[in-house]
Amino acid sequence: MRGRFAPTPSGDLHLGSLLTALASYAQAKASASEWLLRLEDTDQPRNVSSAYHSIPADLSAFGLHADGEVVHQLDRQAAYAAALAQLQSQGLVYGCRCTRQQLQGHSIYPGWCRDLGLPLTGHAVRLRVLDQTIEFEDQIQGSYAQALAADMGDFVLRRRDGIWSYQLAVVVDDAAQQIEEVIRGYDLLDNTPRQIYLQHCLNLPTPRYGHVPLLCYQDGQKLSKQNLALPARHFSYSKLWPWLWQQLGQIMPDTYTDWSVHTWVNWAQAHWQLNRVPRQAYRLTRQTPDRQVDE
Ligand code: GLU
Repeated sequence: MRGRFAPTPSGDLHLGSLLTALASYAQAKASASEWLLRLEDTDQPRNVSSAYHSIPADLSAFGLHADGEVVHQLDRQAAYAAALAQLQSQGLVYGCRCTRQQLQGHSIYPGWCRDLGLPLTGHAVRLRVLDQTIEFEDQIQGSYAQALAADMGDFVLRRRDGIWSYQLAVVVDDAAQQIEEVIRGYDLLDNTPRQIYLQHCLNLPTPRYGHVPLLCYQDGQKLSKQNLALPARHFSYSKLWPWLWQQLGQIMPDTYTDWSVHTWVNWAQAHWQLNRVPRQAYRLTRQTPDRQVDE
């Protein structure tokens, strides 16, 4: 089983992303599999240059060393173009000139450009979605189904400005890197049916999925870069380990005073159990965990 962690380099790793990284790492390493790191940087305006260095460095400092080279999606444009050409030859995509303003108030794309035969160049490119229900068994969340046409509609694969969408890039890259198991945050659960649909269109295998609950504050606000959650490196990594490990519902050692990050990694490899991960979001008080920076 090959696993991966695929953050967007839009800022520092925060506790929520570290929790997901830990879960995907432990799931891979518990079965002696490879764990790859991919920086999902297709949306260039969101990229923060320091994150290209800080994300791998923070993961390593936490004991999560990626196998192989770190992949950058900006280097993979040709692969996305080839996938798009394949979909185009099957008549599955079309150019869309609708502006954001025109689409205001429409949560599902109304299909206005579906049959206009607009060229792909110079327009956004959408995938035609058939009236199908995509259902899969999430390893943490259980069975999940979505009626694609009714719930999502035709979705964008390449924006008008040429930026490849997350959906296309993630599907092409998970297949190219032969990822067999995707463990990631719960916020991506409702993206998964679109990805499975794309895999079917491109004749690619579907990995197994598991969506880890997000760290939430008690008021239900999720911990993320947007609400300025602190970067993970503001905490002591050796103290973060038991805290995150416990959030994942895992077996704690009897005593772990002064355990190093390395000792925790070994414990994790030997004791990880995916079926102990809770389904629901955790509710943190704003104070937890203690901010204690390693000397
Ligand atoms: N790049 C996505 C993010 O940072 C995650 C993609 C994935 O794991 O599929 O939210």
